[in-house]
Amino acid sequence: MNAPRFFPILLAGVLSLSLAPVSFSKSKASSKSSAKSKPSATPAAKPSPTPNHDWQVIKVGPRDYLSVDNIAKFYGLIGNVDSSGKTVVLNNGRNMLQVTLDSRETIVNGVRNWFCFPVIAHENKFLVSRIDLAKTIEPQLRPQMIQRSGKVTTIVLDPGHGGFDKGAASAFGNEKTYALDIARQLRPLLQAKGFKVIMTRENDVFIPLEVRARIANATKDSIFVSIHFNATGSNPNATGFEIFSLTPRGAPSTNDDSLALHFVNMQAGSPMEAQSFELSAAVYHSMCGHFLQEFDRGIKRARFAVLRRTNIPSILVEGGFLSEAGDSKRIADPAWRKQLAESLSIGIENYRALVEKKQRPMLVAEYRAQAAGEITVVDLAVPPARLEPSSNPALIPVTNPAPTPTPSTITTPEQEREP
Ligand SMILES: [Zn+2]
Repeated sequence: MNAPRFFPILLAGVLSLSLAPVSFSKSKASSKSSAKSKPSATPAAKPSPTPNHDWQVIKVGPRDYLSVDNIAKFYGLIGNVDSSGKTVVLNNGRNMLQVTLDSRETIVNGVRNWFCFPVIAHENKFLVSRIDLAKTIEPQLRPQMIQRSGKVTTIVLDPGHGGFDKGAASAFGNEKTYALDIARQLRPLLQAKGFKVIMTRENDVFIPLEVRARIANATKDSIFVSIHFNATGSNPNATGFEIFSLTPRGAPSTNDDSLALHFVNMQAGSPMEAQSFELSAAVYHSMCGHFLQEFDRGIKRARFAVLRRTNIPSILVEGGFLSEAGDSKRIADPAWRKQLAESLSIGIENYRALVEKKQRPMLVAEYRAQAAGEITVVDLAVPPARLEPSSNPALIPVTNPAPTPTPSTITTPEQEREP
């Protein structure tokens, strides 16, 4: 990633926001977004050590937003805007968030993420949608706030495809074979960490998606990990990893780029959606962190059948592109697949430590530093006091209000292509 030059910024609100608790003050702004306006530049402000519990919801059109200033203040981040005036990086040495005007693409703690809605500019402020704050930013900046997380004793491994369903293919082999190989390599690694492992298929057989979900749902204290490899006909250069968890209710999936964002999917979410997202982040950082090449295509959302039909924390891993020359060669290499399986086992172990011990999962930079034999830059076990749940209650807005569904805005799940 080429780091652009950054100027001290902006974030006018950081200084001006009152510390008095005025949670959720609503500023009824005009529904027209002034997309051309750029935030004014003022010197970077050192955030107060005291967390600001205010969330000032700004309504623009049908949607609720929070200003980037507000987000910086809440999480104790210092902001810089780049020379284009379109990208803001917020950082405090422990958490980092990079958002770009008019874009859904964002970087959270060193890996790519995809917001449900683009960042907009409004009255000299960058705004992030409330649903993205609640569903993407908060779970990663304060993973220890995870709720109702339970225990993780069993991992349900789901090698994609099988039998007549070969999945994607390269010159070297088929997705169904590689996915099964990853699961077979992953099983003993997980067992060595004390997990029980159930596989939805152990051989080259076809298993319907609903059967895979049923196996997952019948397993107590478990999580579900579906393993796939990618392919695309539209971009032969596409390469790298992706990871998916269920799209939140009221939001478009990452690949719904018919960003007719007035489109709202009314599919019910899942009670496990937040846990699934935490699981995807924990596993994804490990995947990216175990390789020095940049395979980071991002943490994404989809309504794939196995994510929709499972009622336990569920993710779907895409381990690279069989349609790309470099990726397909790597995937064909058993040693490379072993490394991928190891990265998955460690990500899963990090998720267990999060839910059972409230221990923050390792980040991509920490994995790489560890691999390079460097001292880990962040003490993972001890979150700073200001990030403790007790000192910073969950004032985060949970979701946008549910819009009224009309037949034209309801997308049936079948419209989303299965991986
Ligand atoms: Zn697949």
